[in-house]
Amino acid sequence: MKQISFKSTLVALLLIVSIIANAQDKKLPNIVILATGGTIAGAGASSTGSAYTSGQVKIEAMIDAVPNIRTLANLKGEQLANVGSQDMSVKVWLDLAKRVNELLATKECDGVVITHGTDTQEETAYFLNLTVKSDKPVVLTGSMRPSTALSADGPLNMYNAVALAANPAAKGYGVMVVMNDEIHAAKDVKKMYSTPVQTFQSPQEGMIGTVIFGDILFFHKPHGRNTINSEFSVAGVTSLPRVDIVYGCADMSPDLIDIMVKAGAKGIVIAGVGDGNMNAATLEAAKKAAKNGITVVRATRVPIGAVLVKGEVNDKEFGTICSDELNPQKARVLLMLALQKQRSWDDMQRLFLEY
Ligand code: GLU
Repeated sequence: MKQISFKSTLVALLLIVSIIANAQDKKLPNIVILATGGTIAGAGASSTGSAYTSGQVKIEAMIDAVPNIRTLANLKGEQLANVGSQDMSVKVWLDLAKRVNELLATKECDGVVITHGTDTQEETAYFLNLTVKSDKPVVLTGSMRPSTALSADGPLNMYNAVALAANPAAKGYGVMVVMNDEIHAAKDVKKMYSTPVQTFQSPQEGMIGTVIFGDILFFHKPHGRNTINSEFSVAGVTSLPRVDIVYGCADMSPDLIDIMVKAGAKGIVIAGVGDGNMNAATLEAAKKAAKNGITVVRATRVPIGAVLVKGEVNDKEFGTICSDELNPQKARVLLMLALQKQRSWDDMQRLFLEY
């Protein structure tokens, strides 16, 4: 009799402990980590060598490698892709946008973190900035050193990204990129260094905040329309029109534009010199393409500064579009979404000034 009562007391105690643990669990925000690969999931043979392969480690192992990360949020991981981001594709962008929208539409998800290679992370962040229909936090992160490297930067970046996504104060900032203790807005962030850990910078607008061991400080709100204020949607979309980028230089070859049009491009972004300029022959080719219904956007190969609507090129007269603040790779993203419907010159130019 004595033994039975001891057992039932023990069972009752365990039940209470598990109810308390569950209640505490429920108080934490629910964050989903969508993994796409990159160096953060990369592995190399040596901890001090620079050779490695992206996208080797699975999301559950990545979460388990970050001390205390489960004290920030209830975490679930999903493996959406596992590639180096040089292999990021429109298909994965569409899958990501749809999954993020599905998740954030539910009460059970308070924010999303996306792990991603850094090479094209700014493009994915900007794509989601235009196509996510929620003001809940969406945070991209990655690393410059593979998981097997000495002083790997991935675990702390992931910890900080989860802390940001789990913080209700991060609502309404659009899609963000967290790396190296800094928070950057999707529209402004650029990969500025090929390999060092401070690769992401917003050289013109500045970082929007910092996150240091999970403590967040915001400095300013991002500018430009995003997420719930965006007019773009990828609901039901399975592909996007082809848009190519041509790189400007002295004595550039104008026939590159004709080659792209022949290959099926519906839009062309010119990473022009200076204020989105190109030599006279290329400008003629651009005007011809624009007359034939191809949207030609003038961006710049210069890393900092906007291309001016009222510069050396009269866009309205020539039928070209000015990229304003978007670098060539982000202008391409906006153009692919914009080309989903027929637009007047004014309407197309408006998009580049508003987003
Ligand atoms: N190729 C890698 C990628 O973008 C480079 C670096 C990285 O992930 O940080 O996936």
